[in-house]
Amino acid sequence: MSESIQIQPNIHCEPCKECGARPVINQTRKGFVVTCPTNKKHYETAPGMVNIDEWNRFNQKSPVLTGTQYKSKAS
Ligand SMILES: [Zn+2]
Repeated sequence: MSESIQIQPNIHCEPCKECGARPVINQTRKGFVVTCPTNKKHYETAPGMVNIDEWNRFNQKSPVLTGTQYKSKAS
């Protein structure tokens, strides 16, 4: 029952690098997340403030990471 909030067109957001969709904002119990409207498994920012920067950093069309340096799931 989460309703997606459209991001204003004048805000720059990278398209989802998995499917090319424009991200949306969802409100969760922990705060706002920026996520892919197709599948949140593509990417979802950490809940809290709306963090389009984090989304953009992840979805930038940069060369694919060749290492596993950012694969760690710190716990
Ligand atoms: Zn996607």
